[in-house]
Amino acid sequence: MQAKITTSAIEAAKYLIEGQNVAIPTETVYGLAGNAYNEQAVLNIFAIKNRPKFDPLIVHTHSIEQIERFVKSLPAVSKSLLESFSPGPLTVVLHKRDHISDLVTSGLPNVAVRIPNHPLTLELLRQLDFPVAAPSANPFTYVSPTSAEHVNQQLGRKIPCILNGGPCQVGIESTIIREADDKVWVLRLGGLDIDELQAKSNKPVELAKTVEEASPGNFSKHYATKTPLYMGLELSQIPVEQAENVAYLRFSDYKPEVEKSKQIILAPDGQITTAAKNLFSILRELDQSSFSAIIGEWIPETGLGPAINDRLRRASINC
Ligand code: AMP
Ligand code: MG
Repeated sequence: MQAKITTSAIEAAKYLIEGQNVAIPTETVYGLAGNAYNEQAVLNIFAIKNRPKFDPLIVHTHSIEQIERFVKSLPAVSKSLLESFSPGPLTVVLHKRDHISDLVTSGLPNVAVRIPNHPLTLELLRQLDFPVAAPSANPFTYVSPTSAEHVNQQLGRKIPCILNGGPCQVGIESTIIREADDKVWVLRLGGLDIDELQAKSNKPVELAKTVEEASPGNFSKHYATKTPLYMGLELSQIPVEQAENVAYLRFSDYKPEVEKSKQIILAPDGQITTAAKNLFSILRELDQSSFSAIIGEWIPETGLGPAINDRLRRASINC
């Protein structure tokens, strides 16, 4: 099989209605979608990605009214945050109803839901009478895809259709929250800045620290390149056998003492949102060149900085 790459939401919807899996564009990263009410379509997502079944999937739909059809309740602050930030890179964990299968939630009583902000995917979702489960469309633990080409390179032979919506505008996964104990817990840092969340939340927003509070799929190693990535180190600190042909991943400027051809800049304009947008495609590009190792520079810890640094930490082999 070789995936059909299309820009038609109507065509992509046909595959989903037949119970097949389709890669879909979103503002965060590309997702691998399947009918969330069809257990076989959900099982296929885990198989195609080689994803362990204990790592639950996010369910995507086009409106808050649709979300209310498959959750038991929508607590007030969760609802108002969804109203403020949907469609957008915000995922909310809510009590699921029975017609969301335990396969989707890895046996948890809660389901993670979001309304993605991409015109083609919203058009697609509006044609369906079911929501779709959709994790990122990459093999488990590898770098997430931010273009149709990225998906095609890795999953093109395993799925029938890729909906091509161009490059992702945010570039990192959604921010995941759960309202509990009079707080809004951030389970995963992501494309929505926590300060923005706090500004619209009537309850304090706090980062979940313990494993129990955090999301089950928050593995310490993830998003990994095949070329070893070292964060925050100098050349002299990495193993000699990997030091001969090193690439430098920089935030916004070149290291003066190193050849420019060995450096790649995440955000030439100095904007952290640009770094987020470019992160995964640059990691792929570096991984496909023949460098012996990558030495990365941390991103300033403001705005989406902590979410980007979280991805870099988990992609690295030294942190
Ligand atoms: P992905 O779609 O690959 O970016 O990952 C989805 C992530 O969402 C999972 O790895 C979990 O961390 C999180 N998640 C999904 N469902 C739930 C849930 N019911 N409760 C908590 N976290 C969840
Ligand atoms: Mg993922």
